Amino acid sequence: MSAETAAPHPLRLAAFPNRELGIVWDDNHESYLPMFELRCACPCAKCVDEMSGRKTLRDETVAKDISINAVHPVGNYAIGIDWSDGHDTGIYTFKKLRELG
Ligand SMILES: [Zn+2]
Repeated sequence: MSAETAAPHPLRLAAFPNRELGIVWDDNHESYLPMFELRCACPCAKCVDEMSGRKTLRDETVAKDISINAVHPVGNYAIGIDWSDGHDTGIYTFKKLRELG
């Protein structure tokens, strides 16, 4: 069994009006992730330099009132998030979401 499949999986995801993404995990843990922080932690190639792994996104360019338009499953290990600023290339693994929470 790989580390990805052994990681906890979200049972439910909910975008709250206070701009938090709530996650109920299959081990009964609950995470409440501020959307702004989640957007700033975007791991995609536009936000993180692939070669160095260094973050290139500048937090001050992210709107404080950023919100989530849609969440869609990616395989059995991650979710993709469509942000209100049109950014939709970030893939958030369950492992990363759990670490953020
Ligand atoms: Zn990104």
